[in-house]
Amino acid sequence: MKKWQKILSDTITDLETLSKHIKIDKKMMKKVGKKYAIGINPYYLSLIRKHRGPIWKQCIPDILEVIDEIGRKDPLMEDKYTPIKGIVHRYRDRVLLVVSNMCAGYCRFCTRKRKIGLKDKTVKKQEFRKAINYIKRHKYVRDVIISGGDPLLIYDDMIEYYLKELRKIKHVQIIRIDSRTPCVLPQRITPRLCSIFKKYHPIYFNTHFNHYYEITRESRKACEMLADAGVMMGNQTVLMRGVNDDAKTLKRLFEELLTMRVRPYYLYLPDAVKGTYHFRVSIRKGLKIMKQLIGHTSGLAIPHFIVDLKHGGGKTPLLPNYIIKHTGKRYIFKNFEGKKYFYADVE
Ligand SMILES: *Cc1c(COP(=O)(O)O)cnc(C)c1O
Ligand code: SF4
Repeated sequence: MKKWQKILSDTITDLETLSKHIKIDKKMMKKVGKKYAIGINPYYLSLIRKHRGPIWKQCIPDILEVIDEIGRKDPLMEDKYTPIKGIVHRYRDRVLLVVSNMCAGYCRFCTRKRKIGLKDKTVKKQEFRKAINYIKRHKYVRDVIISGGDPLLIYDDMIEYYLKELRKIKHVQIIRIDSRTPCVLPQRITPRLCSIFKKYHPIYFNTHFNHYYEITRESRKACEMLADAGVMMGNQTVLMRGVNDDAKTLKRLFEELLTMRVRPYYLYLPDAVKGTYHFRVSIRKGLKIMKQLIGHTSGLAIPHFIVDLKHGGGKTPLLPNYIIKHTGKRYIFKNFEGKKYFYADVE
């Protein structure tokens, strides 16, 4: 058994075991456990011991999850955009290839809360063949995002098989991997896995760090190994109440990501998913935070701030407004320092 498999097999999935490690209200949490998957692996648990708050909130069940009356199970209507098992096809030129419903830990804020879980529903080889045929038939699909759950919880051989099959399709220009493992189970990034990726470039990788507390010696090593293998590294962060909803935390997170060659890609407003209301942050607050970042750190450290619109409306950028007035060709801007500037536009 590899090191990552051992850590994964030691994942805490029941409250009895969890209560031996940290103090929790078992009775309350039992209600949550009945409804949503619980999973905290020993590596991520060690971060709680060190930092508590923002790490705790991301992975320890909360009674608020079962009393959320507002959220919906599938606000993005992914199920509607699923033409065939394993494919989510929302945008014409790119598809999600969902290969696993398992994760290296179950995030309390997950958008796919309805689907992820411990009961293994990993895509079977036969189902995968059908998904591949779907991509083959749709010649305008040029970007395939291998997603889950977490796609890196499957074995190396299977990952290689997927990449090989995808690379046989001429119109697939880029392959993306969406995995949280560099953050929650960095031991998963092994030299063997990196050598597989190397063979199927261009591979883009989006990982998922939400707080600079998650950047450790191990996670840094994982990201650097991937970058060394020529994988283009990006990061998606979910803006969450009580976890990272202040400019100082995000600035430090984004700057530190760059030091390990990971480029902040998206910052998401939390989706209106049932069981996650307590994480939600207002657009107003999110924009205020963006204003505190833009111009105050490297442009490289600034992700697009995104709301994923309900009913499958799609990812939509949210931008602070810098134009305070405009008449005809005359614009008045307020710059990042709050100073006014005139601008005369062209025809
Ligand atoms: C996020 C997402 C994508 C990728 O969107 P980009 O903006 O290209 O990163 C593709 N398909 C679905 C269904 C998605 O949710
Ligand atoms: S790793 Fe991703 S898919 Fe899995 S629970 Fe966390 S947010 Fe959801």
